[in-house]
Amino acid sequence: MIRINPALPHKPRVSVLVIYTGGTLGMVYDRPSGQLVPFNFEQVLDRVPEIHRLDFEIDLITLPDIIDSSNMNPTVWTELARLIQQHYTTYDSFVILHGTDTMAYTASALSFMLCNLHKPVILTGAQLPIGVARTDARENFITALEIAAAVDTDGLPMVPEVCVYFNSALLRGNRSTKQESVHFNAFHSENYPHLALAGVRIEYNRPFIRAYEPDRDLSVHTTLDPNVAILKLFPGITEPVVRAILDMPGLHGVVLETFGAGNAPTASWFLDALKRANDRGVVLFNVSQCEGGRVTQGQYQTSTRMNEIGVVSGADITTEAAITKLMFLLAQEPDPARLRQRLAEPICGEMSL
Ligand code: ASP
Repeated sequence: MIRINPALPHKPRVSVLVIYTGGTLGMVYDRPSGQLVPFNFEQVLDRVPEIHRLDFEIDLITLPDIIDSSNMNPTVWTELARLIQQHYTTYDSFVILHGTDTMAYTASALSFMLCNLHKPVILTGAQLPIGVARTDARENFITALEIAAAVDTDGLPMVPEVCVYFNSALLRGNRSTKQESVHFNAFHSENYPHLALAGVRIEYNRPFIRAYEPDRDLSVHTTLDPNVAILKLFPGITEPVVRAILDMPGLHGVVLETFGAGNAPTASWFLDALKRANDRGVVLFNVSQCEGGRVTQGQYQTSTRMNEIGVVSGADITTEAAITKLMFLLAQEPDPARLRQRLAEPICGEMSL
């Protein structure tokens, strides 16, 4: 661990722990190959001298393996959750520097794993490395730190939840999706308003931010069930493709990416495959391919059968939140009926009913 900014003696102490996982933000161009590769963040910090002007204490931990977030996985999520648990009483808030590609998955997973969180955990990253002149990394990093350290007039944290901050917008982590790989507005939350917008001032959208509930202690769940899959439907999908996934031995849960308001083919081979999987105990979770709107099972004939089979409606959840919620609940909830019930209800603001 290194100390970036010491506590100022004349100010009340606000402390932020920065956890660096990798991603474009801290990458450099490898000269021979011209490819972007992860770099030692302690050296990267020299590129952000503004950080020393922030009037709170900032410490930095770098994960042992810094990665492109395409290599992110549940083991690293567990490592992150444990780090936050270990340092929870020492720091007021946490900033996680992360690659953009899977940031929405990590934010979703952590939102479930960090139960009863009442401190900010802000994920951010960048589309351009911090050493590049036009980088978005500096603004994203500095503002994420300011949001993490922000308190209201009672001294309570402004955003006691897992969030993604990117390109001026603070989003609920488990509502965010990466929508853009070229422009700076990489993240988006179609079904839930932003939690804050950073312009000249940072304007917080208070009614949409989770309430601060200090009475319930943080409980960290570090087990996730990786035996899950995503089955994205398309017109013309064949029986062998569907069966290859749904009949897979050892499978415990599937996010079904359906059309529109949760619709799927009515061909008997398709419905039979769903029923066989469901009867075998595989949990089927219906999420729409449309970013906006919601699954309404039973609105059309094409989704009514899914209700009868026992497919759980994902309402307006994102795929990222759906797959991580499935991993989380499959590991936490031994009772199949209760598991399906919890899947259909919001746990930490990831869906609206
Ligand atoms: N491939 C990079 C990553 O996700 C992209 C980025 O950080 O923007 O780690």
